[in-house]
Amino acid sequence: MKPHTIWLVIPCYNEQEVLPETSKQLKNIMHGLMEKGKISKKSRIAFVNDGSKDLTWNIISQLHEEDPVFTGINLAHNRGHQNALLAGLMTAKDYADAAVSLDADLQDDVGAVEQFIDKFIEGKDIVYGVRSTRATDTVFKRGTAHAFYKVMKFMGADTLEDHADYRLMSKRALEGLSQFKEVNLFLRGIVPMIGYETDVVYYERHERFAGESKYPLKKMISFAVDGITSCSVKPIRMITTLGMFVFSVSIIMLIYFLAVWVMGKVVAGWTSIVISLWGIGGLILLSLGIIGEYIGKIYMEVKERPRFIIEKVLFKDIE
Ligand code: UDP
Ligand code: MG
Repeated sequence: MKPHTIWLVIPCYNEQEVLPETSKQLKNIMHGLMEKGKISKKSRIAFVNDGSKDLTWNIISQLHEEDPVFTGINLAHNRGHQNALLAGLMTAKDYADAAVSLDADLQDDVGAVEQFIDKFIEGKDIVYGVRSTRATDTVFKRGTAHAFYKVMKFMGADTLEDHADYRLMSKRALEGLSQFKEVNLFLRGIVPMIGYETDVVYYERHERFAGESKYPLKKMISFAVDGITSCSVKPIRMITTLGMFVFSVSIIMLIYFLAVWVMGKVVAGWTSIVISLWGIGGLILLSLGIIGEYIGKIYMEVKERPRFIIEKVLFKDIE
């Protein structure tokens, strides 16, 4: 059988500290796999520069000059991890039989790449990388990440626990992905919707090799809110349920107030009025906020803005 062409897609934002090491390790792995005849010589390591402000693009261009196994995709400006990844995958789709996405910081064990490819050769279209342990994460990161999956699941956005964006997708899975036109992109929620036969590869998550995380708590929370609101309308249904509940309580209260009025004790009850005033006021504001979040999403969707703009692709064909 002819070896498959595999692309590795790596989004990079200000990763000048890690790129020299990441590129070295990935290059060894790819050349090793080529020699074994597992992947074709047309396979590539594609770095997507997500509008970095440091020397990331210079490093990528230099790598490409030295060895055409490296391909560079330069985005016109910073669009965030998910969009950068999509830009890379959509480029890879036109050249490769399958693409493996991973982070630039070597947190995803690059040694597992071969297992992904083995599963692909077995005929799987989507292979998810799942962390076997979180021993290297801080207690805080582990706790918040766990809460994140719990809340996501409860809110109706079904994602695979402990799977980040380390995954393989075949050409036809990528073509499926390209038909999801949404601007509010949450890949972990969308990929399971594509279907096809899937499998899982377990790997150990390492510490970030160098540089710092681009996902501080604030960004993680907005990522979670984005994930929930772009995959599920459950929060809006919860508001409806809450509204029905509050309305039922108000009917009981009405009966109670009428009874008190009939008995002539009308002045009492200041506490209950003030509490319900604040309570219901708070609920209304919260509900408006949730609905507003969805209206914002609709607003962004109807504009149909491009999800990424590619400034330049560095690609050399090897004969
Ligand atoms: N990243 C990106 N654009 C951004 C933020 C992050 O392309 O706006 C990339 C980053 O370079 C890395 C990956 O997304 O390759 C994951 O980011 P990071 O390692 O900081 O996240 P963490 O592992 O801490 O969740
Ligand atoms: Mg990381």
